[in-house]
Amino acid sequence: MTGSATTAHWDKEVDVLVVGSGAGAMASALFASDRGARTLIVEKSDLYGGTSATSGGGVWIPASDSALEQGQQDSPDEAFTYIKELVGNTVADGRIRAFVENARVMKREIEARSELRLTAIPYTDYQAEKPGGKMG
Ligand SMILES: Cc1cc2nc3c(=O)[nH]c(=O)nc-3n(C[C@H](O)[C@H](O)[C@H](O)COP(=O)(O)OP(=O)(O)OC[C@H]3O[C@@H](n4cnc5c(N)ncnc54)[C@H](O)[C@@H]3O)c2cc1C
Repeated sequence: MTGSATTAHWDKEVDVLVVGSGAGAMASALFASDRGARTLIVEKSDLYGGTSATSGGGVWIPASDSALEQGQQDSPDEAFTYIKELVGNTVADGRIRAFVENARVMKREIEARSELRLTAIPYTDYQAEKPGGKMG
């Protein structure tokens, strides 16, 4: 960019500018682009992927299609109960609902739009003894 704020000239103009290139950023960029927005990811590091690229890559997706296909018993309501047990009233119910209802939708939609494939593996919740917690 050159000039003052009022005479700014941008090198490139986009509808959605995504700052960073971790999993959150990549998912946001994918959906924005898929919906027709001109989208640009900018990354401050020499490498893309952020902490996401060096993580274990395990994603907690309650009641995913692949878990249910494997015979796991799970539901968004149980996941909601479990999270509420852990966080109490520190997180708004609507935000928890948004996660437990949409995490599996996110998996479906990302797999439909990319080469990423997520496989369900039985993994014990950290506090499986709590209401809504699961052993696998
Ligand atoms: C060793 C390890 C293992 C883990 N394993 C798991 C796991 O198995 N499951 C799990 O759920 N979580 C795991 N985590 C935690 C998880 O990796 C992070 O919570 C998650 O990756 C954060 O994702 P993010 O998209 O928010 O940010 P990040 O992946 O950290 O991406 C942020 C990006 O933004 C860039 N950035 C920051 N500021 C700017 C700027 N001003 N301009 C441009 N770019 C900028 C950064 O360089 C970075 O690339 C693990 C963490 C570690 C360290």
